[in-house]
Amino acid sequence: MIILNLLCDNGHRFEGWFASSDTFRDQQARQLVQCTYCQTSSVTQLPSGPHVRRSGVATAQHRKISDTADSTDTTAAPLTQPEAVQNFFQALAVMARQADNVGDRLPEEARRIHYKEAPPRNIRGVATAEETRELLDEGIMVLPAPVPPESETH
Ligand SMILES: [Zn+2]
Repeated sequence: MIILNLLCDNGHRFEGWFASSDTFRDQQARQLVQCTYCQTSSVTQLPSGPHVRRSGVATAQHRKISDTADSTDTTAAPLTQPEAVQNFFQALAVMARQADNVGDRLPEEARRIHYKEAPPRNIRGVATAEETRELLDEGIMVLPAPVPPESETH
């Protein structure tokens, strides 16, 4: 979109908006460009030439919109979220396999590690809901997680 400074035969100056200067010349030739004040179609473009006012903004807006569309595409891609969740559970499973299995001594061991009475390490085991709540109350991070069944067999 360009804005041209136009002058009619009666000396009125006004602005005309056109898709391009070619559009202006075409409309001028077909006498479609009229003075906004006296409606004459004897209109000439002022010698100052076309001054492009909004094209920069329009381009920036267009770029911004397409950027937004791109980022929306990547973040909202339907496969991204389940994949992240799957990776998370895989990492959990690996952690659980590497963790010391302390069985039902889990609350006790978790406390000893938390209060630095035992070397810090990942442990796993079983705790009742009550024990888990007590640990959480003491500020001990307990993550109730499904233990992969194969790790119970050995
Ligand atoms: Zn006029």
